[in-house]
Amino acid sequence: MNPELVWLRDDLRLADNPLFHFSSPPASLMCVYVLDERWLEPLAPGLSARRIGAARLSFLWQSLIALRGELLKRGGDLLVRVGDPPAVIAELVASVGVLCVHVRDTAGHDEANDLARLIEKLPASCKLRRCQGGTLFDEQALPFALEDLPGSFSAFRRRMEAQDSTPPAQPTPITLPLWPEKAPRGLPPLNHICDQAAAWRSDSRGEFRFQGGEEAALARLDHYLWHSGAIARYKKTRNGLLGAEFSTRLSPWLATGCLSARQVHDQVRAWELEHGACESSYWVIFELLWREYFHWVARKEKAGLFGPRALPEPPPAFGSWCRGETGVPFIDAGMRELAATGWQSNRVRQNVVSFLVHDLDVDWRLGAAWFEHCLIDFDVASNWGNWGYVAGVGREASRGRYFNVLWQAQHYDAAGDYVSHWLPKLEGLSEGPARHQPWRADATAYPEPCVIPDAWEDTLLPLSTAAGGASRLDASADGSSL
Ligand SMILES: Cc1cc2nc3c(=O)[nH]c(=O)nc-3n(C[C@H](O)[C@H](O)[C@H](O)COP(=O)(O)OP(=O)(O)OC[C@H]3O[C@@H](n4cnc5c(N)ncnc54)[C@H](O)[C@@H]3O)c2cc1C
Repeated sequence: MNPELVWLRDDLRLADNPLFHFSSPPASLMCVYVLDERWLEPLAPGLSARRIGAARLSFLWQSLIALRGELLKRGGDLLVRVGDPPAVIAELVASVGVLCVHVRDTAGHDEANDLARLIEKLPASCKLRRCQGGTLFDEQALPFALEDLPGSFSAFRRRMEAQDSTPPAQPTPITLPLWPEKAPRGLPPLNHICDQAAAWRSDSRGEFRFQGGEEAALARLDHYLWHSGAIARYKKTRNGLLGAEFSTRLSPWLATGCLSARQVHDQVRAWELEHGACESSYWVIFELLWREYFHWVARKEKAGLFGPRALPEPPPAFGSWCRGETGVPFIDAGMRELAATGWQSNRVRQNVVSFLVHDLDVDWRLGAAWFEHCLIDFDVASNWGNWGYVAGVGREASRGRYFNVLWQAQHYDAAGDYVSHWLPKLEGLSEGPARHQPWRADATAYPEPCVIPDAWEDTLLPLSTAAGGASRLDASADGSSL
């Protein structure tokens, strides 16, 4: 039957997937996904949480089950294994007699190493077809060599916008080659891998239910563009904190490859043809270019993206931050939303990063590793790239970004609705700044902050007489309470 094998990684879809476009279709085809056993290991010394947390694993499994359904409809199937990806693929090549492995180059140092290790393991009888995809542009379409990638996002964006030739998304294959006779197929039950992931349910306070899979991804894209009208307001709402429509919420599907950037791009352009291009529709593409930038940065920087390899022992302040127990409502609300839903808005992400790195002085790599564990949209390039960017390391290091978290909280959550949504204890305080500075308004309402950075000085409320103990807090303004 001359079997061939598609090794799926961050490309869990059939539409616009170059892995399913063959110059001459194979007689039989295996589609394989390998859950990397390293993702089930602890995050770091002193951090027992696994690299992949329950929320992300649950979303991934939903996506794999949905993909299997789509493959079965077309005459194919899916095999999911847990292990060392190149070793599992090489073993299947040998046991099934695979003649060609199809795989996509992805961002990520481990992923690139996996491919190199597979190449070493493949027998001479088996070919390897490497393709590109997942990004708006393929490497050969970039207007510069990868080593000359512009040093800033702005310079990158200007070069890419000048060329404006994003290729269109490719259609879904209608049928697929048959599954090789006697080849193994199917997924292990999720509870055999992780009980917490099998039982994971997102907290309904998240106000949006993410469901893995290509169909759910397309439904969200369709809704956001064609039914909710939200895209027309994106530029104004994108810094929102509450509700389902302030941003596209496409990130988990883009990260797992249930949806491609080109599919989003095509649909936004189609929307513009019907409704007229506007600042908001431009801004959605602008954000996709951020994704694009970080993907090429990751490919260029390889292991350098992660900073020095070994993570330090986490200090106690890190635990408070992860649990949402810093005493700073905006940070605590954000970290509890992350734990409860596996997702956070971009505005909150930037603030919690800045607080951890610049105010608590904790190593940025611990925070990035925690996000890797929690985020259902974890994407190695976007996560580690954004962390480095806000922490002020790596690219554009000289422009390290400090966010005055208290000012940001009061600006983007003026009434304190977001913080009281996630921290109901604050509902008793009057709407407005008091909910962001409970220690100034009523020290009994909420635990005291673990640090009061000097930068907050001009934003602090006058002390209320109800704020017993606030003067003690002022004494720890240099962060020594940590
Ligand atoms: C510390 C930190 C870590 C992050 N980690 C991730 C991650 O692991 N995975 C991830 O997809 N995004 C990450 N982001 C980027 C961004 O926060 C999310 O993509 C966005 O909040 C997802 O919501 P959305 O889909 O509604 O985005 P929208 O605002 O609707 O944007 C549309 C799409 O553009 C892309 N995008 C938007 N902003 C960025 C950005 N700053 N960097 C890269 N791509 C962007 C995403 O694919 C997003 O889905 C991170 C940002 C920060 C500050």
